[in-house]
Amino acid sequence: MTATVIDGKAFAATVRTKVAEHVTRLKEVHGITPGLAVVLLGEDPASQVYVRSKGKMTVEVGMNSFEHKLDAQTSEAELLALIAKLNADPDVHGILVQLPLPGHLDSDLVINSIDPAKDVDGFHVSNVGLLGTGQKSMVPCTPLGCLMMLRDHHGSLSGMNAVVVGRSNIVGKPMAQLLLGDSCTVTIAHSRTKDLPAVVRQADIVVAAVGRPQMIPGDWIKPGATVIDVGINRIDKPEGGTRLVGDADYDSCAAVAGAITPVPGGVGPMTIACLLANTVTACSRANGLKEPEGLTA
Ligand code: NDP
Repeated sequence: MTATVIDGKAFAATVRTKVAEHVTRLKEVHGITPGLAVVLLGEDPASQVYVRSKGKMTVEVGMNSFEHKLDAQTSEAELLALIAKLNADPDVHGILVQLPLPGHLDSDLVINSIDPAKDVDGFHVSNVGLLGTGQKSMVPCTPLGCLMMLRDHHGSLSGMNAVVVGRSNIVGKPMAQLLLGDSCTVTIAHSRTKDLPAVVRQADIVVAAVGRPQMIPGDWIKPGATVIDVGINRIDKPEGGTRLVGDADYDSCAAVAGAITPVPGGVGPMTIACLLANTVTACSRANGLKEPEGLTA
């Protein structure tokens, strides 16, 4: 079998188009422009690239982008004061604090100071609890993007065996909650899981969120299964230079799987598209308006 390639880049473009259509309606019918505030501390090059492309895409879909670049030495009190200001600003519907934060700051405290209704990353403890209890919440962007691709590919996920490899708060755990919400039978695997190959072989859906290059080979994959590869790992090329690979060994997995997301061009582009989707959802909710269809869990 040769797997269908799930084109995250193309799918993300359709999500952004839906977001842009909803933004146009909000502006023209209600006179509201959704706004996303991104807070970046320090000079980490990868974070700067993310923030730049988030800002660019926010503007491209017609929303307001507010960038707050702060010194790496910024005190907790200063950062909390900025977040309080953004919480109170009616033009700001989504707030994202780019992680990781410098070591002197308490990330949990900072994230939990964001108004949960504006927490477009879905990391606030209230949103975690709402998601865990099946209530309306802001859903973390990367797992939301994975869910959208799975629903698009399969239609119903009900009754499927899903194995999520990785139990982080930002990917693995919320991914498992979302799959459970769609009535999958869910297993969460991690570094202490015994006989991981046998666990993964049970899966109709494998979500790999580990951060170890090409660790899942094709002979762990049940024939016809769907592989969603969240991993982003940079490895050396034999001829020099580097390239990005996922947590799945793409070629051997694609030879067995029914469908697979590539790296790059799979989950990655969906993450920013879902950030925009969450911002337009937050804006609609804040104004008591109908949420855009197909852009939330
Ligand atoms: P974390 O490091 O927070 O979590 C990794 C998880 O993998 C942990 O739960 C860990 O288990 C588990 N793990 C580590 N080694 C093994 C192993 N040998 N076997 C089984 N499980 C193992 O990573 P994140 O969740 O933040 O990210 C995972 C990957 O996804 C990274 O490559 C990251 O770059 C990428 N990513 C991609 C995004 C995108 O937009 N596409 C967004 C976010 C992340 P334990 O808990 O036991 O230590």
